[in-house]
Amino acid sequence: KKQHGHVDHTPSLVHKIEDAVAVVKAPAKPYVLVGSGTASFAAAQAIKEQEPNANVVIIGNESVPPYMRPPLSKELWFSDDASASETLRFKDWQGNERSAVYQDISEYEIVTDLANINKESTKIKLLLQKTVTKLDVEAHTVELNDGQTIEYNKVLLATGGSPKQLPNQSGVKNVTTFRTVEDLRKLDAIAKKDAHIVVVGGGFLGSELAIALAHRAKKEGLKVTQVFPEDGNMANVFPTYLTKWTTGRVKDEGVEIKSKHSIKSIDGAEGDKVKLTFDNNESLEADHVVVTVGIEPRVEVARAAGLEIDEQRAGVVVNAELESRRDVFAAGDMISFHDIQLGRRRIEHHDHAVLSGRHAGENMVGKNKPYKHQSMFWSDLGPKIGYEAVGLVDSQLSTVSVWAKASDADTPAAAVSQPENLRGVDVQDIKSSEEQPAPSSNKQPGNASEGTVFKDEQFGKGLVFYMKNKKVVGVLLFNVFGKVQEARDVISNQTSVEQIEQIVSK
Ligand code: FAD
Ligand code: NAD
Ligand code: NAD
Repeated sequence: KKQHGHVDHTPSLVHKIEDAVAVVKAPAKPYVLVGSGTASFAAAQAIKEQEPNANVVIIGNESVPPYMRPPLSKELWFSDDASASETLRFKDWQGNERSAVYQDISEYEIVTDLANINKESTKIKLLLQKTVTKLDVEAHTVELNDGQTIEYNKVLLATGGSPKQLPNQSGVKNVTTFRTVEDLRKLDAIAKKDAHIVVVGGGFLGSELAIALAHRAKKEGLKVTQVFPEDGNMANVFPTYLTKWTTGRVKDEGVEIKSKHSIKSIDGAEGDKVKLTFDNNESLEADHVVVTVGIEPRVEVARAAGLEIDEQRAGVVVNAELESRRDVFAAGDMISFHDIQLGRRRIEHHDHAVLSGRHAGENMVGKNKPYKHQSMFWSDLGPKIGYEAVGLVDSQLSTVSVWAKASDADTPAAAVSQPENLRGVDVQDIKSSEEQPAPSSNKQPGNASEGTVFKDEQFGKGLVFYMKNKKVVGVLLFNVFGKVQEARDVISNQTSVEQIEQIVSK
């Protein structure tokens, strides 16, 4: 450094400078992104935006280039095009043509020979159908299932999660889980004429798939049954009355619901059928069973590398910069991170995968910024019912909610909502998820004679505020769209129950 007019010519420093120059000239070791899902793709894009010539390699064990999963249980089943599961092209609810695949395979540099891994390219490099089996944080290497190793500059772990299985499902024919394009294609081929398909699980995936299959049933004469241990659809997220209402809508779509049914055993039966036996000894035969009972974050590689695992949330622990150790970042479904508003969390949703992936990518090229985004998620139960949410939405929390009559404008297909329609509606302070709103408190304009709690109109659209220590920690926007930022503000302002009641009772 010359800033004080002093130049040090000692030989050791000259050597150091020569070494430094040599390092700069050597081909750059790559940013290695493990997993070819949403979080990795978002990270790759963020790195390329900051450094267009950066050497970025995505390694994934699927055969399809990075794609988004949400349409796999929604729009792709509502397409008029019979080859939608092959093309992965769909129309969103507004009718816009889209693809689940983020970018065409031709836009990547496909790596066939690892000898070229450090070659400069403006494209994102992609190595498909390879599994990373080992991470060595000290040697800065990852090992592939074929025994080859890659030296990295920085690494991102974005391995997502594996679907959980029923205890005794393996080996039973015609039972599958659902996570990938390959799973979609399998189920698409099965969901044909007169097949009886059973969906096990009442959460996000099971509820969306049951609706999607029921839509298909209108053309193909399928029979669709959904089985789960809870009282109704989405019971781990929705307050009880909304679970009941939603379950009614799922039934209206033609799904046979078996709630409060726990599976005792699953076996093969005559004629390639599957037999489910329940705790109450009732049983059921089907042509195919789709198991959607949650995921297990894939943390084996991280665990074996000695990275810290949050056993309670089953994720890799990262700091505010989404780093697990120096030069090892992680993002998406697999991370246990500190949400500065809501505490330590692990989130299994698309927007979080995008935001945390982008954020990790930026930090890999040196931004060193804390992850402060409050991600959102959405789900659609067909084109007519949809919801978005921010923060902690868990039916174990107490809730305060506001409901109004919905119009045709209040559907996932409608881009904008009219919040003024929410005026004059009732407030329900539900202290526990078991309590239901009192029918007598219905104050909807023009709706006075319709006191039935579960009338369609009553839950047409609404807001549910989830409370912890008397503060709002989560907001569910049910058939209310375009209000996510306001919901974030309600949480970040630490809005109290009293404030919410005041706002909605005016
Ligand atoms: P993933 O998308 O799971 O990607 C991880 C990738 O890494 C996978 O391709 C995996 O095969 C690969 N991999 C794992 N281990 C290795 C390894 N060792 N070596 C190489 N590759 C590896 N969220 C929403 O918010 N809204 C929705 O409507 C919605 N719909 C969904 C519908 C479906 C059918 C599914 C399955 C999920 C849905 N989700 C939705 C959840 C959302 O898709 C996930 O939160 C998101 O995909 C997480 O991204 P990720 O990159 O962390 O993991
Ligand atoms: P889990 O989902 O693996 O299930 C718990 C137990 O119930 C398991 O032994 C499972 O085999 C059994 N079970 C559930 N449904 C069954 C059925 N239909 N047939 C036979 N057995 C059945 O584990 P978990 O810890 O309860 O929940 C997983 C995740 O969901 C966790 O992250 C948890 O925090 C979250 N969650 C669960 C519930 C719930 O009621 N299960 C509620 C809120 C949050
Ligand atoms: P989930 O955690 O939402 O629901 C799991 C369901 O399975 C619950 O109803 C649970 O009680 C039930 N269950 C648990 N153990 C069971 C058992 N042994 N037998 C029967 N039922 C059992 O998970 P999911 O619905 O499987 O979804 C998979 C993943 O995909 C999750 O990460 C989810 O967040 C994500 N996903 C998200 C969306 C969305 O955000 N719109 C849509 C689809 C999938």
